[in-house]
Amino acid sequence: MGEKISEIFGTDVFNETVMQERLPKATFKALKKTMENGDDLDPQIADVVASVMKDWAIEKGATHYSHWFQPMTGVTAEKHDAFIAPASEGKIIMEFSGKELIKGEPDASSFPSGGLRATFEARGYTAWDCTSPAFVKEDAAGVTLCIPTAFCSYTGDALDKKTPLLRSMEAINRETVRALHMFGKNDVTHVSCSVGPEQEYFLVDHESYMKRADLRFTGRTLFGAVPPKGQEMDDHYFGAIKERVASFMSELNHELWKLGVYAKTQHNEAAPAQHELAPIYSLANTAVDHNQITMDLMKKVAKRHGLECLLHEKPFKGVNGSGKHNNWSIITNTGENLMKPGKKPNENTQFLFFLAAVMKAVDDHALLLRYSASNPGNDLRLGAAEAPPAIISIFLGEQLSDIVEQVINNGKATDFKKNSYMNIGVHTLPEIKKDATDRNRTSPFAFTGNKFEFRSVASSLSVAGPNTVLNTIVADVLSEYCDELEKYAGTKDFEDEVMKLIRREFKAHERIIFNGNGYAEEWVKEAERRGLPNEVSVVGATKALLEKSTVETFERQHVLNKAELEARAEISYEIYSKTLNIEARTMLEMYAKLFAPAVIKFEKELAEAIGSIRNVSDKIDTSVETELLEKISLKLKEARLAEDKLEKALEEAVSAENAKCQAEAFNNKVFPAMETLRKPVDELEMLVGKDYWPVPTYGDLLYEI
Ligand code: ADP
Ligand code: MG
Repeated sequence: MGEKISEIFGTDVFNETVMQERLPKATFKALKKTMENGDDLDPQIADVVASVMKDWAIEKGATHYSHWFQPMTGVTAEKHDAFIAPASEGKIIMEFSGKELIKGEPDASSFPSGGLRATFEARGYTAWDCTSPAFVKEDAAGVTLCIPTAFCSYTGDALDKKTPLLRSMEAINRETVRALHMFGKNDVTHVSCSVGPEQEYFLVDHESYMKRADLRFTGRTLFGAVPPKGQEMDDHYFGAIKERVASFMSELNHELWKLGVYAKTQHNEAAPAQHELAPIYSLANTAVDHNQITMDLMKKVAKRHGLECLLHEKPFKGVNGSGKHNNWSIITNTGENLMKPGKKPNENTQFLFFLAAVMKAVDDHALLLRYSASNPGNDLRLGAAEAPPAIISIFLGEQLSDIVEQVINNGKATDFKKNSYMNIGVHTLPEIKKDATDRNRTSPFAFTGNKFEFRSVASSLSVAGPNTVLNTIVADVLSEYCDELEKYAGTKDFEDEVMKLIRREFKAHERIIFNGNGYAEEWVKEAERRGLPNEVSVVGATKALLEKSTVETFERQHVLNKAELEARAEISYEIYSKTLNIEARTMLEMYAKLFAPAVIKFEKELAEAIGSIRNVSDKIDTSVETELLEKISLKLKEARLAEDKLEKALEEAVSAENAKCQAEAFNNKVFPAMETLRKPVDELEMLVGKDYWPVPTYGDLLYEI
């Protein structure tokens, strides 16, 4: 691994440099126009690109190509086809046509469609997304050329996470350019949203992982007593990175760099065995692809080091879980970041205009935004005082909140709170300028100087969803604002009219701003008073997809139609039920096959010990042993009853009449029944001898590497 980063970076990517070098000038120009301005793709250039792409991939050792897509399962899917085509005399030639590049036909029936596609209507199509670069991937199967694609049904309905994202990028582009032209920025022809997702994860030892059915089947521990040492010492966060982890990180970076992923920051996180990787931000769809690749590679590279990477939101009860911070902003083709307040934020009408749009979008669609960050695992984390609450609010910080306040009170802001310099009290240290906003780790949606950081997102979730929602709801507000203001564009009244609108909107949506402690109990009450939604489960939040305002907004912006939204709700309910069904059945199996027999074995030996001691002399006091045996037997009884309860709840849920009722039954009945079984088993773990316990404990898993 001695190579320089600059030499290996992007070597496995069919990126712009490669295209410029290898494609005929005219083809490159035409393709670039499609990539940059969203112009229609000319089918004739596809043939040329395909042939050049194939040669490049074959030079890299590729034998196969694959349309790489992102179905609603949330993980990426690929179907490999060899480049070979028969030639005369039983020989083959390596072939790859424009048609094969542009369109693929995987069988859609094996992917969740939420009823959009009946099983007999299995046709599904993948379409080349030329805005996201192709790459080669090497694994045991050899080298494969991966072509990022969108996946849709025969009727053109989106069956994946990529299609709506691309549509939402068109929406935000269209409406933002419109708005900027009003502000006289006629040189802006295109904007894109930039996304930087920070990824948290756990690493555990592979051998121990294999011994736990819950980790293998569900990605989280379903049982486990909290170890004597948790994270209370705060000694893991930013702590020195252990050798084995360091070598994992080094190889991961190397692999990511080859694929053109800007892996930048790595450090230990709050919990033991927890780490984080942050890339430098990029264009939204590239960022989504790269995050999927990152998650994939984390798992793969971990195995090479005898480790397992856990991306689950809450692998360990009582220990901080993992999230993904989705940093988001809008940047123009002229290089302006629209979320940057500038030197004088109070006078920056354009910035305040976009701020108002974000505030309105988030306030009007709070539940939808919360839904977009959710999955079953995140239910265990949001609102548990380690991650933002389930209530969506915006943290603006002192400086911007003050400006909002001034505008509401006086129609404009005459001054602003300046950034100060920190006094560290040591002359030899450099003066450090303070950020205008302090950090607020408890806020779900925080302004962090030049971007918004959506901090609620589930660690294992694709960031396509949250960014699709963000782009769409902000685009829709911008469109509404433009409808109102466009007639004043270029007139002397423009500035006044914009400020009037900003004031009105700040006033109307001030309730969404909250700079305080999001973990505090009072915030829940205060939010309720403000009328902000607080859905504690993804099951309850899913209804946001079907709300009238969501359907109208998404149809207006051509991102998802009603049928597609309904399908997504259906899939969300299905995923919840399936997840909990697997979890509950895994618990029942672990209890019956592992824990109950282990406890009984311990009981038996304890009972025999008591008898043997008494045989020696009846003067020896065996009350301690007897008490322990009694206690264990009572706990086992409690577990036994809980087992019954969970079985019944499960039966009831499985027979529910539709997807929504089923998810609700899993949420309201099965989930609490799982907790009821877990409690006595975790207590038994503390009573039974370590040698008898059939699975590695939390202490083993968290402090082993
Ligand atoms: P912080 O330490 O406040 O979280 P960083 O500067 O470390 O901020 O950035 C965190 C993440 O945000 C990184 O992935 C970074 O690339 C990303 N980021 C920075 N600026 C932007 C932006 N304008 N748009 C989107 N993401 C951004
Ligand atoms: Mg951050």
